[in-house]
Amino acid sequence: MRYEMMLPHQIRRAIEENWPVVLPLGVLEYHGEHMAVGMDTLAVIKVLERLEDELNLVILPPFYYGAASYAVEPPEGNGSIQVGQQALAPFAGELFRSLLRVGFRNIHFFIHHQSENFAVGMPTDLSFKFAARQVIFAFIEEQRGEGWWGNPAMRDYYAQQAAGDDPFNWIKGHPLMTPEIVAQYPFDHAGIGETSLMLALCPEAVELNRLDGTRWYTESAREASAELGWKGVKLIEAHLRSVLGR
Ligand SMILES: [Zn+2]
Repeated sequence: MRYEMMLPHQIRRAIEENWPVVLPLGVLEYHGEHMAVGMDTLAVIKVLERLEDELNLVILPPFYYGAASYAVEPPEGNGSIQVGQQALAPFAGELFRSLLRVGFRNIHFFIHHQSENFAVGMPTDLSFKFAARQVIFAFIEEQRGEGWWGNPAMRDYYAQQAAGDDPFNWIKGHPLMTPEIVAQYPFDHAGIGETSLMLALCPEAVELNRLDGTRWYTESAREASAELGWKGVKLIEAHLRSVLGR
């Protein structure tokens, strides 16, 4: 369900049944002359939409305004929008805090942009991860007071954590493509991998006739196909099902 379309009784049901609440997180970044700037975010949104009927899922309005960086091209006339960590982390903190206040305890964000080494992290996902940690500490401390962790009631903390049940699991971040997927499907920027994903998920975001061979990172897009894209979509769907399904 789309959060913006939910009625309070539906929200209360989602809280009670601990439905995953998912934020599609991404950027607006130059992806060659042949592809829309929203690619990284659109990929997350479109896959989630495909799973919406199958899983009990709350999809939050997507956040497109991450730190695209100007590493690929300068923004002038190209379209990349860069919002830095100094603005992202406070925003993410406010958002997560509000979601906890509503009552959600099964919050996730998925990101594709710069996620090739997700365990280490990049500015956008690190901002959201860091904000999540800070907010959880503050939220529990407000509710239970200082010393909450040392309280005898927390005696089984490590067992709970092993079962994936500790408070720090209330908010989790994930790459759209895991290292296992990347081993089976090309990870690139505006090359064959991303262009094929868009040809499958969102063909209106691609104009292959505009492909311009002057940039190294778009050269492989010549070989892009919806067929290859669907292969990637299937792998991503399996990953999302394992993270979000119960
Ligand atoms: Zn991309």
